[in-house]
Amino acid sequence: MTSPPRIGVLALQGDVREHESALSAVGAEVTRVRSLVDLASVDALVIPGGESTTMSKLALRNGLMEPLREARRSGMPMYGSCAGMIMLADRVTDARPDQETLGGLDITVRRNAFGRQVDSFETEIGIIGVGHDPVHAVFIRAPWVESAGPEVEVLGTIDSGDDAGTIVAVRQGQLLATSFHPELTGDRRIHTMFVEIVRRSR
Ligand code: GLN
Repeated sequence: MTSPPRIGVLALQGDVREHESALSAVGAEVTRVRSLVDLASVDALVIPGGESTTMSKLALRNGLMEPLREARRSGMPMYGSCAGMIMLADRVTDARPDQETLGGLDITVRRNAFGRQVDSFETEIGIIGVGHDPVHAVFIRAPWVESAGPEVEVLGTIDSGDDAGTIVAVRQGQLLATSFHPELTGDRRIHTMFVEIVRRSR
C-alpha cells in the first residue's frame, strides 16, 4: 500500500480548519503551510476560502508568494475554494490594485461577482467527475469565472436563474478551483477528486 498523500492547507488566513477536516476524512495526511519549510514538506496544497486581498498581502509579507508560484510551476497540485480560486487565477477583475495572485489557471475571475444584495446563497450544482448527484454548493461573496482559456476544463456551472451558465468550477491539469465552499458541507466528493489528482501526480 502506498502512503497517504501529504496535503498542506495554506494557513495565512481563511477557513483552514474546515479543509483540514475534509482532507483528513478522505484519507490525506494534512498539515498547515505557513513557511517555506512547511511548503517543502507537502505533495499538494489547498488554498482556503477567506479574503484573497488579505491572503495576497500575507503571502507577500511572509516571502511565500514567489515560492508558491515556483511550487505551482513545478507541478504541485493545488485546489482553491472561493478566495483560493482567486489566488490561482491568472487574471482578476475588481482586484485591489496591490493584489497579486499565484496564477496558473488560465481564467479571469470577478471578485464578489454575485452582487451585493445576495452576498451568500446555496444551490445544487452538477459537477463533472464526482458522480451523478449534484453538489450542494455554498457561495459566500464568491467570485465567478468570467472567461476561461482553451486548456481549462469547465467542471460546473450555475444551472438556472439569472446567473445560469456562470462557470463556478474548473480544472486545468493539476489545478482545481471552485467558487463555492465544499469544505463547509459534509459532501467530500470535491476533496476526494483532489486527493485523486494528487495520487495520480505522484
Ligand atoms: N470575496 C472574497 C475575496 O475576494 C472571497 C470570499 C470567500 O472566500 N468566501 O477574496
